[in-house]
Formats: sequence, C-alpha cells, structure tokens
Amino acid sequence: MTSSVAVTPAAHKVRRVPVRTCVACRTTGGKRGLLRVVRLPEGAGVVVDPTGKMSGRGAYVCQTPECVTTAQKRKAFERSLKVAITETVFDELRIAITDDSTEKKGATTMS
Ligand SMILES: [Zn+2]
Repeated sequence: MTSSVAVTPAAHKVRRVPVRTCVACRTTGGKRGLLRVVRLPEGAGVVVDPTGKMSGRGAYVCQTPECVTTAQKRKAFERSLKVAITETVFDELRIAITDDSTEKKGATTMS
C-alpha cells in the first residue's frame, strides 16, 4: 500500500507580489511594462503616475495606444477606480507613451 502523502512541491517561498494587470487587455506586465494611473485621495481626481510611487488607489494599462484607447472606450479605469476619468488623463497617458518612443528622434546635429 502506498500511502501517498500529499507532498507539497518544495513550498514556494514566494512573497505576495501585487499583480499588475492591464485594465484593457488583462495582461500582466507586458513588454514595455504597465503605466500606472492613480486616484488621488479626497476626490482630487486621477493622475498618471509614471514613477509608480504615488499613494492612492492605482490601476494599470499597457504602454500602448491600443490599450489606452480600449480602456477609454470601455471605461475600464472608471470601473476599476470607481471614479470619473476626464479626457485629460487619457491625453496624459498618450503623451507618456509617446514621450518614450520619440526620445531619440530629431537629430540635432545640423551644423
Ligand atoms: Zn493592455
């Protein structure tokens, strides 16, 4: 008789890491990482938090225009943060995304 005692596979020493999930496509992480949007306390609105260090309730979206648009259409941030989101926030998100990729543009070596 083989009494198979449930052997716990090398008890994972995994600490609970907060999982970031894109509100649009539900991807965790992503190649370029996720952009954080934070709901400020006391109804101070919602802001884009590129540093990821601001306190407040956060939601994440992929750094792609597609996911930002999807989030906007689906009101994904509204649902996640339970607050109204202004167009400005989406503009800021798009700027934050674009900033990154336009960094090396504009060769200024014209002499
Ligand atoms: Zn996404």
